Amino acid sequence: MRELKGGNMGNTERNRARCTKCNDVIESKYRHDFVSCKCKTIFVDGGKCYWRAGGDFRFFLRIWDDGRETPISFEEKEEVKNPDAEPIDINDILFYNVRSN
Ligand SMILES: [Zn+2]
Repeated sequence: MRELKGGNMGNTERNRARCTKCNDVIESKYRHDFVSCKCKTIFVDGGKCYWRAGGDFRFFLRIWDDGRETPISFEEKEEVKNPDAEPIDINDILFYNVRSN
């Protein structure tokens, strides 16, 4: 399981995601609102304050306020790139850039 935290979404976009495994739509509405999907494959947290998400990103679609649904792309911090470290432990928090395209 991977966990991502941070991003450059600003404070206006809602923090929503769809799990493509169970088709559940989840939303974190406030800072400590941890929400996982029905099948527990993905989660969102942090509301609009900080955008935290995790789980199996093969099944994760970010839902944008204009209705688009896109997979997450992210950049790992240089110091956590380690080919021997796969799969990445949940305790490894990576900082990433959320992109809308
Ligand atoms: Zn699910």
